[in-house]
Amino acid sequence: MEAFNELNLLEVDLPVAEQDDILLKVSHCALCRTDAKMFRQGQRDLVLPRILGHEVFGFNEQTGERFVIWPGEACGVCEECLKGHENLCSQMRIMGFHRDGGFAEYLSVSKSSVIPVPENLPGHLACLAEPLASTLNALEQARVEKNERILIYGGGPVGLLMSLAAQSLGATAFVVEKNPPKLRKSEKFRSSLAIEGSPECRLKDFDVVVNAAPSLSIFHEGMSKLRSGGCFCLFSGFTGEGTFPVSILNEIHYRQLRLAGAYGSTRRHMEKAVLLLNLFQESVSYLVEEVIELDQIPLALEAILSGDTLKFVAKI
Ligand SMILES: [Zn+2]
Ligand SMILES: [Zn+2]
Repeated sequence: MEAFNELNLLEVDLPVAEQDDILLKVSHCALCRTDAKMFRQGQRDLVLPRILGHEVFGFNEQTGERFVIWPGEACGVCEECLKGHENLCSQMRIMGFHRDGGFAEYLSVSKSSVIPVPENLPGHLACLAEPLASTLNALEQARVEKNERILIYGGGPVGLLMSLAAQSLGATAFVVEKNPPKLRKSEKFRSSLAIEGSPECRLKDFDVVVNAAPSLSIFHEGMSKLRSGGCFCLFSGFTGEGTFPVSILNEIHYRQLRLAGAYGSTRRHMEKAVLLLNLFQESVSYLVEEVIELDQIPLALEAILSGDTLKFVAKI
C-alpha cells in the first residue's frame, strides 16, 4: 500500500533474515476490519508505504515447520514485557503497521514471535489465531470464569471468535448482532457451538459484557445488562462523539461494577488460540467466507467495509 485506497501488487526484494530472525514462506493471511480501515483512511500506527497483513500463517521452507506469527515486536526489557504483558510495551512495533506484513510471499520475523502449528490444522484456519488470541486476552482481563454468562455486542468474525473463546472457558455466550443478514450468516457457526444470537437482547444480569463493535450506545446499554459486581470489557475502540454521564460513574460506584480494557494479545494467548482452533476446526471453518487470491484483496477490503461479511483469507 503506497497511499490510502491504493493497494498494488509489486515485485520486491526477498526480505533478509537477520540474526535471531527466521524467513517464512507465507501460506495464508486473513483480512480483517483493521486492514480495511487502514486501506480506506489510515490508522494511528500505520507507516506508509507498507505491506499490510497481520494474521499470518507460514512455514520454514528448509525444515517444513509450520507457524503462526505473534504480530508484535516488543522490547523485552521494560516492566510490561518482563511481567508478560508484551502487548502493552511502549516500544511495540506491529507487523503490517510499523513493519511489513503478510500479504507477501516471504516474511522475515523474530524467532521469538513464531508459534508452532500442528500438522493437522489447515493454514486457512490457523491464521485466525491472532484475532482469537485478542479475544482470549479480553476474557482474561474481564476475569471470565466457568458457568458465567457473557454478552457480546457485535456478531462479526471477532465477536463470534470471542463467543467460541467464552464457551471454551465453560462460560455461556450470547451474541447481539443488529444486522439480520449478518446474524443469519453466523447461524451455522453458532448452532455448532450452541451459541445464542439475536438482533437485541432482553436478558439481564450478565457477569460480563464485551463490545466487539464501536458504537458508544453499546456502552450505555451494556452497563444496564450487568449484574451488580459485573464487568464491562472495552474491547473495540469507540468511535464518534459522546459524553460520559455522571449517572454511569455512580452506577459503577453503587453496583460495584468493573471496567476492563483489552488491546491485542501476548504470545501466551496465541499459543492457546492455536490449541482452540485445532479443537474447534469444524466450527471455525464456518467463519471463513472465502479463500481469495492476492489480487482480490482490494475488492475483499471493500466488501469488509460494506459491513456484513465473515472472514476472508488470502492464499499467498
Ligand atoms: Zn486483525
Ligand atoms: Zn517492552
